Amino acid sequence: MPTSFDFDLLVIGAGSGGVRTARIAASKGKRVAIAEVSDLGGTCVNVGCVPKKLFVYASQFPELFHASQGYGWHQNYSTSFDWNTLRDNKNAEISRLNGIYQKLLKDSGATIIQGRAKIEAPQRVSINGVNYTAERILIATGGWPFIPEIPGKEFAISSNEIFNLDQQPKKAVIVGGGYIAVEFAGILNGLGVETELIYRGNQLLKTFYHDCSVKVTEGMIDKGVRVHLNTHVISISKSQHSLSVRLDNDNTIATDMVLYATGRIANTDELGLENTAVTLGPNKAIVVDDNYRTKEPSIYAIGDVIDRVQLTPVAIKEAMVLINHLYAENNDSVDYTNIPTAVFSQPELATVGLNEEQAKLQYNEIQVYRSDFKPMFETLGQGSERTFIKMIVDKATDRVLGCHMVGHHAAEIIQGIAIAIKAGATKSQFDATIGIHPSTAEEFVTLK
Ligand code: FAD
Ligand code: NDP
Repeated sequence: MPTSFDFDLLVIGAGSGGVRTARIAASKGKRVAIAEVSDLGGTCVNVGCVPKKLFVYASQFPELFHASQGYGWHQNYSTSFDWNTLRDNKNAEISRLNGIYQKLLKDSGATIIQGRAKIEAPQRVSINGVNYTAERILIATGGWPFIPEIPGKEFAISSNEIFNLDQQPKKAVIVGGGYIAVEFAGILNGLGVETELIYRGNQLLKTFYHDCSVKVTEGMIDKGVRVHLNTHVISISKSQHSLSVRLDNDNTIATDMVLYATGRIANTDELGLENTAVTLGPNKAIVVDDNYRTKEPSIYAIGDVIDRVQLTPVAIKEAMVLINHLYAENNDSVDYTNIPTAVFSQPELATVGLNEEQAKLQYNEIQVYRSDFKPMFETLGQGSERTFIKMIVDKATDRVLGCHMVGHHAAEIIQGIAIAIKAGATKSQFDATIGIHPSTAEEFVTLK
């Protein structure tokens, strides 16, 4: 066992959680190294949140072009979409962000080591054949798309590939009913791709409030996505010009592309965990205690690799709590309740706190407020998208337990509401708040 180490902390994985930990630890004077096998910024920056949101923006223009006519805009030019322009501009933006991450890490004093890291012993890591010792190791290796074993699996792509296709597909089949499947159904449909969404269950986004999932599904169908519920894919085969997706209802869909969005598995293979006492739970996720310590005292893990909540702000919060715990003798912890989240589907869904079913299990009596209306933009815009909001209140204390929204700007609005819920606001306090008129958000302070 070495008495002095090459580094105080060696972070494996330069994604949302790893970069934040390395940067803050280094800025506190710790000797930090961070290993990355791919691009700095991890999933979120390179194949997740960032390119996804840019693609969502791109896909919303046709509806805006249409709406503009009701507002008096007449187009004397035709519109067309160029996939390569979007892809290349997106790549340029991501390169810019990669550079910013590199600068942030370098400026903090952290050493960046490019390569795949393998843990050789509880305080030793090899990268590109070189061994490094560290007092502590942090595993922040994220997750990887999971595609189930079906005949023809090799013809399917995952979210890792979709952002860099050589050309835009004309037809696409998406398999799954969670965040990525629903977001990409909206993106591809908006970009003019004939989009079929295949989901094995009877309700998309089943981890969300049932009423909101139904509104999203109805909205997607209204916009043109063909949704097949209770349907399984049997196989995928390839002919000269297209792919065939065979379904369990005896139908076959001819398509150019099959995107599987069927969850992600923790990135723990080939990490050398057999050389440590680190244990894995379901989904190959690393088991940690409240301080993110694994069963191996010198090794910690945060982010998607522990599979608690696979969201970037959660990975970052876990990083900050870990840093405080290791280097500031502060024993605060991450509060996993009331985490706001949005699905950038079309229509958009955002939520914070308990839904009706969850609240009924925890509280004696609850009050449910609801509003379903046509937003002002759609009046002259002549679109059919509606806005749906729900609020759940504990009758005994008047505390707002949850707010849920489907419609334009849902993510932006719910982020603000989440602060009120975190602060324990009551329905009377929401009511006492003066609205901003005319806005959709004011609906949350006028619910009757
Ligand atoms: P990651 O960001 O995955 O970083 C892990 C890093 O470790 C990677 O760079 C990887 O290359 C590296 N690595 C792995 N193994 C090794 C090794 N052995 N040696 C060296 N390096 C290694 N979240 C949101 O909050 N909002 C969104 O809108 C959103 N959209 C998403 C869209 C998509 C398509 C996907 C896939 C995810 C999305 N997420 C979103 C989830 C978000 O991207 C993740 O929760 C977040 O990136 C997790 O951060 P992390 O640090 O745990 O892991
Ligand atoms: P999700 O867990 O959201 O959804 C996975 C979907 O795949 C579910 O509908 C699931 O069905 C289905 N599925 C799982 N296994 C199979 C199978 N063998 N055959 C058919 N269908 C299957 O995962 P995603 O891949 O969509 O996203 C991964 C994570 O990334 C998300 O959970 C989220 O945390 C994060 N993310 C966040 C985003 C955001 O914040 N906006 C955007 C994108 C990703 P069933 O429900 O029946 O189990």
